[in-house]
Amino acid sequence: MALGSFTITFDKKTIIVTGGNRGIGYAFSRAVAGAGANVAIIYRSSPNAPEVAEKLAKEFGVQVKAYKCDVSDTVGVQKTIEQIDKEMGQVTGLIANAGVSVVKSAVDLTHEDFNYVYDTNVFGVFNTARAIAKLWIERGHKGSIVITSSMSSQIINVVENADPLTQVFYNSSKAAVSNLCKGLAAEWAKNNIRVNTLSPGYVATDQTQHMDKKIRDFQAKQLLLKRFAEPEEMCGQALLLLSDYASYMTGGEYFVDGGQLVF
Ligand code: NDP
Repeated sequence: MALGSFTITFDKKTIIVTGGNRGIGYAFSRAVAGAGANVAIIYRSSPNAPEVAEKLAKEFGVQVKAYKCDVSDTVGVQKTIEQIDKEMGQVTGLIANAGVSVVKSAVDLTHEDFNYVYDTNVFGVFNTARAIAKLWIERGHKGSIVITSSMSSQIINVVENADPLTQVFYNSSKAAVSNLCKGLAAEWAKNNIRVNTLSPGYVATDQTQHMDKKIRDFQAKQLLLKRFAEPEEMCGQALLLLSDYASYMTGGEYFVDGGQLVF
């Protein structure tokens, strides 16, 4: 770690990014590949994920591979992590980023909706974090886990105006995963495994495309920076948390929200 130059490089170490084929996850995959990491992208069903991986590999001259796996499937995740370890070499970081939402009024939400959101946003994060931590603990390796939560772990974000829709399962799942991070950080600190949360504000991805333009404009005006973020604007904090520059950071929640939580 050279403090004078402050350059983050991962030197062909492997970093796993769940949901790394599109949206914020894709920006993370691109940023870590650009910093010299081999990247294992875990995705759920997008047919073009292998192509996305191939393009990134060509662009940065590192290995990038796409692995199809539902993060909530315990056996599937275990097998996928073993396969990544075998095929791509030493894994030093995980960005547990895959997340989903159901936008419906609270009175219409079902138990299936609850399971869908929590299986990915809470259990899926736990499942991938545990699988990689087990491997690191067995081998006595250090590692860094970055969880993508949301500013909605702290506040309720209204996505539709006249009759407010608030994504109650999504918001509460993000509060749960931000707390989960602290528990995992506490358990694994002795093993030299750091766990932190990166909580974005509004980011221009498929997830925010469904928002009515009037609501988007209204929400943007509430932010100090007066606009939604581009996915790439999440990457500086993620790279820092993955790197040894963050060696004294664990159990933290870091907001990259354009100045939303000041209100
Ligand atoms: P997108 O909807 O654009 O992408 C979601 C990604 O997650 C896709 O790659 C998808 O794979 C993957 N995924 C979803 N469910 C699973 C699953 N069960 N197993 C494996 N992969 C899965 O999301 P964003 O980029 O907008 O969001 C990324 C993260 O950031 C999420 O956790 C989200 O909650 C959080 N966030 C987003 C904000 C925003 O404004 N966009 C704000 C705050 C937080 P596939 O392509 O195969 O479906």
